[in-house]
Amino acid sequence: MKTRDPQTFHVKSFGCQMNVYDGDRMAELLEAEGMRAAADGADADLVVLNTCHIREKAAEKVYSDIGRLMKRKNAPAPMIAVAGCVAQAEGAEIVRRAPGVDIVVGPQAYHNLPALVREAKAGRPALDTGMPLLSKFGALPARRRQGPSAFLTVQEGCDKFCTYCVVPYTRGAEISRPFAAIIDEAKALIDAGAKEITLLGQNVNAWRGGAGEGLEDLIRALDALPGLARIRYTTSHPADMTCGLIRAHAEVEKLMPYLHLPVQSGSGRILKAMNRSHSAQSYLAIIERVRAARPGIAISGDFIVGFPGESDADFEETLNIVEAVNYAQAFSFKYSPRPGTPAAEMEDRIPAQVMDERLQRLQALLNAQQLAFNQAKVGRRCEVLLERTGRKPGQLAGKSPWLQSVHLETDATIGDIVEVELLSAGPNSLAGRHTAALFPGEGRGPVSSSAPLDPGLRRGTARAAA
Ligand code: SAM
Ligand code: SF4
Repeated sequence: MKTRDPQTFHVKSFGCQMNVYDGDRMAELLEAEGMRAAADGADADLVVLNTCHIREKAAEKVYSDIGRLMKRKNAPAPMIAVAGCVAQAEGAEIVRRAPGVDIVVGPQAYHNLPALVREAKAGRPALDTGMPLLSKFGALPARRRQGPSAFLTVQEGCDKFCTYCVVPYTRGAEISRPFAAIIDEAKALIDAGAKEITLLGQNVNAWRGGAGEGLEDLIRALDALPGLARIRYTTSHPADMTCGLIRAHAEVEKLMPYLHLPVQSGSGRILKAMNRSHSAQSYLAIIERVRAARPGIAISGDFIVGFPGESDADFEETLNIVEAVNYAQAFSFKYSPRPGTPAAEMEDRIPAQVMDERLQRLQALLNAQQLAFNQAKVGRRCEVLLERTGRKPGQLAGKSPWLQSVHLETDATIGDIVEVELLSAGPNSLAGRHTAALFPGEGRGPVSSSAPLDPGLRRGTARAAA
């Protein structure tokens, strides 16, 4: 038995933050059609699998999920929609391989989801993997759901064609949303309670406005919006790290001291084979300028180990660049050949065991750096935006300015920004206590603290110096 007239839905997003954003927008679309969100996929009438195609493992997950949904015990099999990058890459092949799938919808076409549901209700498999330029944003309903921290997609697609990457094929050419539409969406998010907005794009710093504005102009416009306390952006490409954007890190108070800037490898030879436009040296020079603009900024990155032809010496150069940068956070992956990309045709593939060993060594170094960054904050005060319940009863958790998770006991509520003394640090989070206000007249905490303000805090440094 299969559900044909869905009243409830569940959207499960895999992969990057852009998929999380798309998943939220699909949920808003379905709610606008009168459907209700179910708590999870266990008994929802419609399940949307919002997929990721970046690595083979991520792409295969969708098929095991479909199998589980078709066999679920407590409810008839749901109507199943496959959305996201696997839908774009595999199209009708998905329905051939998994006949239980009712809808296939690509990342540029999901504004048509309600129409596709209507088609599937009539018992026909419904497919849309079109790539119309930006039309989906204009066709989406106004933002409605929101927590204290919101994603806002400003740029999509990619023209860089790194040889390992499927994004230019699944997300299409680089496009920027118009300035005014982004500001309108930001205002709607703030009205719905957002205190922090993270601007998203596959190469977010390639965003350009119609009058030639750069991402820094967008950040400055957001800075002027009352009610917004924090701005972030991700993911950036080294080639688009302009002087203006680096200057914004020095001048815009609401721009948080965190930069995710993937390098992928420390070897010039491998970077060239990857078709990255930067070298290890030019990447390090950017980091130096960013740190000069914003001392104490947390630097994060992405790495791939085991790209075809990567020698031991190439890998040592990756470890060297990690030592040179000293990351606060990072994401590292084993190379995964993606069909249709140039690297998938390259010879000299690296054996799985060698990749495993390299990944372990790299992650040991990155984890040690992350722990050291977290530990260096212990005994200091900073602001935390409370976003969710914490690990223990009575605790809430949120993010520090450097994107660390912080858990604390407090009577404050989710959405508050509180002053916190950081008491202890692990590799993935810190524990703190809610203290009296960092700055006079800016709210009250339950206890006073003589812990020093973190010197990386702009307002703290400015006022401490005054
Ligand atoms: N645009 C960003 C940039 O240029 O660095 C990256 C976006 S990509 C969606 C996210 C990360 O996935 C990449 O930085 C890379 O480390 C990783 N990645 C992409 N393709 C991969 C592949 N074929 N195998 C392993 N990791 C991959
Ligand atoms: Fe993929 Fe990023 Fe390279 Fe574009 S710049 S091809 S998204 S890794």
